[in-house]
Amino acid sequence: MPFTKLQHELDARDAQGLLRRRRTLDSAQGVRITVDGKAYLSFCSNDYLGLANHPQLIAALRQGAQQFGAGSGASHLVSGHFRAHQTLEQAFAEFVGKPEALSFSTGYMANLGAVQALVGRGDTVFADKLNHASLNDAMLLSRAEVKRYRHNDAAHLAQLLSQAQSGRKLIISDAVFSMDGDIAPVPELLALCEKHDAWLLLDDAHGFGVLGEQGRGVMSHFRLTSPRIIYMATLGKAAGVSGAFVAAEAVVIDTLLQTARSYIYTTASPPALSVALQASLQLMSAEEWRRERLQQLIRQLREGLRGLPWALMESSTPIQPLLVGSNEAALGLSDSLRARGIWVPAIRPPTVPLGTARLRITLSAAHEGTDVAELIGALHELAR
Ligand code: PMP
Repeated sequence: MPFTKLQHELDARDAQGLLRRRRTLDSAQGVRITVDGKAYLSFCSNDYLGLANHPQLIAALRQGAQQFGAGSGASHLVSGHFRAHQTLEQAFAEFVGKPEALSFSTGYMANLGAVQALVGRGDTVFADKLNHASLNDAMLLSRAEVKRYRHNDAAHLAQLLSQAQSGRKLIISDAVFSMDGDIAPVPELLALCEKHDAWLLLDDAHGFGVLGEQGRGVMSHFRLTSPRIIYMATLGKAAGVSGAFVAAEAVVIDTLLQTARSYIYTTASPPALSVALQASLQLMSAEEWRRERLQQLIRQLREGLRGLPWALMESSTPIQPLLVGSNEAALGLSDSLRARGIWVPAIRPPTVPLGTARLRITLSAAHEGTDVAELIGALHELAR
């Protein structure tokens, strides 16, 4: 029976400490959550600005549903493209300083669509080794040749670029690395694009709303812009809702609209989500205190966790991974915290390289200093 083999494979995963399990939230996303009936202090969402459960977003979602209904009813190119989608795309393009934008139902789909629309056989994709799975899948699906460079290593990338064959060249990188929290060397990547006539696709899933002036993202953080940059941001993290957009030159967006399969062959997301995202964009840009609070909490955590047997990785973003090493040790630490009512997930291979299992601590503007102090205290106690 083929099932026996599947069961063996699952058992093998379990034996290696690699079996993934879901836990079920009984409350809204936030800092204080109820999971499987028990209360936790959470450090594990990507709701960096604390907007996922904001009353203004909830009100906007409700109003959007009243106006446009629950479902979009069709794909964007058939009859599922609503005024709310259109207005939001324009707002996002303007916010990040690009001529046009196109919205996707998820970030995963945006990456699949963008890479596959821009390169194919005879072209080359250059990818950071620690890129998100969706970028990795996107480049494999595109059928372009793939060259992976060492994490954030512009010199290695330069070497690979100089060996490239003819055809289009696309560099793809997380802007903020999802499991490490560090920021890509965008100015260096862009300089290489200029030199080698390449494009740069930046996945700012974890930078949008968090980095730059008013949360405009990684391009604003580095104070740079270029028609060569194809900018992607997701909307289920700092923006607190769901979805993604790609912003770029008009010709790039027109190309995506015509050829990005994950845009064309899927039902448009409910327009009410776009109404909620308008409210989110407004709060995100207006409420600077959320980003200031995050910076304070990051400083507090980094100072407070000094002297532990495990080290925080180098990161200035709300993603603050504590490197533990083995899968068992990371799981054990996560379990011990959970027993104290604190939820921090253990991240294991293949999501991160072998031997670098870690606790992925994420901070939110909704955390109080006392929440972070509680985590610091618990980790010091567990270290003893
Ligand atoms: N890119 C990165 C860097 C991510 O971390 C994620 C989400 N985990 C995605 C893309 C996918 O975005 P979404 O969750 O909207 O599909």
